[in-house]
Amino acid sequence: MKIHNFSAGPSILPQEVLKKASEAAIEYNGIGLSLLEISHRSKHFVDIMENARALALELLGLEGKGYKALFLQGGASTQFIMVALNLLEKRAGYLNTGTWSEKAIKEAKIYDDIYEVASSKDAGYNYIPKGYEIPENYDYFHCTSNNTIFGTQIKQFPNSPIPMVCDMSSDIFSRQLDFTKFDLIYAGAQKNMGPAGTTLVVVKEDILGKVSRKIPSIMDYQVQISKSSMFNTPPVFAVYTSMLTLEWLKNLGGIKAIEEVNEMKARVIYSEIDLNPLFKGYAVKEDRSYMNATFNLVNDDLKETFETMLKEAGISGLNGHRSVGGYRASMYNAMPLDSVKALVEVMSELETKA
Ligand code: PLP
Repeated sequence: MKIHNFSAGPSILPQEVLKKASEAAIEYNGIGLSLLEISHRSKHFVDIMENARALALELLGLEGKGYKALFLQGGASTQFIMVALNLLEKRAGYLNTGTWSEKAIKEAKIYDDIYEVASSKDAGYNYIPKGYEIPENYDYFHCTSNNTIFGTQIKQFPNSPIPMVCDMSSDIFSRQLDFTKFDLIYAGAQKNMGPAGTTLVVVKEDILGKVSRKIPSIMDYQVQISKSSMFNTPPVFAVYTSMLTLEWLKNLGGIKAIEEVNEMKARVIYSEIDLNPLFKGYAVKEDRSYMNATFNLVNDDLKETFETMLKEAGISGLNGHRSVGGYRASMYNAMPLDSVKALVEVMSELETKA
């Protein structure tokens, strides 16, 4: 049976990417060796890394604009500390929109008494704060574009008077934005790009080298740039698979093309949530995420029936994050519209049954 994978991550990858990646794990490009067996200094892998870095910049529209792309390790969680290490001299401002922002703030607090420009904690992070001020004399402003756990997404980014840093782990490459607004973007691969194990960092070079502290080499963006993202042995398989996904996206028509599909998927799920009296959305409407739709059953007595029906329809990974409960439909780039339609069918069938 076909499984519709609504997992929040690690999540779904395009079938053709999985096929090519699995072939390369056995033998890469007819060279008689697995991709996993070749030196990362070989031309084969250097080409893969350079292609992945170039594709990331190309898809974001950032080629030739002073940005560098890096494929690092340690997940987005390591970026929480790397951002502060590399950019924080006196004070930074953070927008607190959920668990991942909280974690970023906690790490940056090792270096400074971080200022929260605004927070939606008061309402269980079900909305995106607006109308806040970003102090001009701070080192940088940090925000999280999509809140994977609570299902909210920033639709309008501020015009920041200071460098803007954004954790785009759960919606990178999913929608068109003016990416030149951002000075540093980071994203763990395992939602819209590839397997867990690598993290994309896109950084504008001219914001670096301004802090007075000594930065450990592996955590220093300037060192990573000077070593072409290969300061140490990179996660070759994760980078290769990410490159394949970026190629897949480019062939599809880039971010513009996938955005149309993502908008359609979001329309289908949210109209069911709004029209079906058995369900209630978690996030406020205007801030709803196109990647993670969070919702609850109005009457928990239907939980068992609903979950049995989901299982029978081959729908998996729909449980909400343990801190929120309810349900979360994660609809990353590789999820086909048909999977969302399959879920909506079960939801409306429940209404007929109840
Ligand atoms: N930031 C966001 C928005 C996330 O959704 C996640 C994980 O789901 C992380 C950061 C942490 O990523 P990692 O597990 O790669 O450290």
